[in-house]
Amino acid sequence: MAVALFIGYKALLRNETPVACIVTKGDEILSIGYNYTNTSLNGTKHAEFIACSRLADDTNFQELTLYVTVEPCIMCASYLRQLHFGKVVFGCGNDRFGGAGTILSVHNDREFANAPFQALDGICRTEAIQLLRNFYIQENESAPSPKVKKNKNIDEKEYPMNPLESSRMEHASFYGKERLIQSGRELTPKANLGYSIANYLDIHRLRKVPYLEKELGDVTLQQLEEFSSLFYDVDKDGQVVYSKQVERYQPKRRKLSES
Ligand SMILES: [Zn+2]
Repeated sequence: MAVALFIGYKALLRNETPVACIVTKGDEILSIGYNYTNTSLNGTKHAEFIACSRLADDTNFQELTLYVTVEPCIMCASYLRQLHFGKVVFGCGNDRFGGAGTILSVHNDREFANAPFQALDGICRTEAIQLLRNFYIQENESAPSPKVKKNKNIDEKEYPMNPLESSRMEHASFYGKERLIQSGRELTPKANLGYSIANYLDIHRLRKVPYLEKELGDVTLQQLEEFSSLFYDVDKDGQVVYSKQVERYQPKRRKLSES
């Protein structure tokens, strides 16, 4: 998920909504996708579509896992189900269009013809929200009348309570019983250990991610540094460490310092 978040950050650098995903088979990343609706002016170019459309027609999607920063929308969830996707892991819920539990449960609705897929939420939930906040804050600030468009929620520091959309049983079977978290807390990669998202990224590995540098430009140490500065840490009890100073993505400052 850390890689998906970084791809989302790279999309943000291109002024796209920072929603991104990777498709994996075991430890191997087969494909990536990121929101591409602004540049292409095509509202259906969602991350999941881009990632899956790169794969061959005879791909066995059942054995693949999609890690996506935000819950697939209803359209994408339906698409994933038609592909017979195996498993979908997402960061934060999609309060407006979520098709994997939040608005509709396209992933496991019995009325659908195709087999259901497993959808699990909560991995890097706060980081996924924070990336989106950075995008919307920037949008607001560049809007002609920022006061009118100002959305209060994105300036709030704390995150909305973790709703744990998937059932607790599903969480236990996927993440392991020892990682079952208390309601309202965040999942950590290892039971009883906190984390900082930057610790899960390595520039050499990022540079090998298929399509990433080719489509979204070089991965640099400065980018990794800026990316890391955007997020809070999570402590061993799954609580966000709000005392850490986090930066805001600053596209204007970036342009100045690069010129
Ligand atoms: Zn979608």
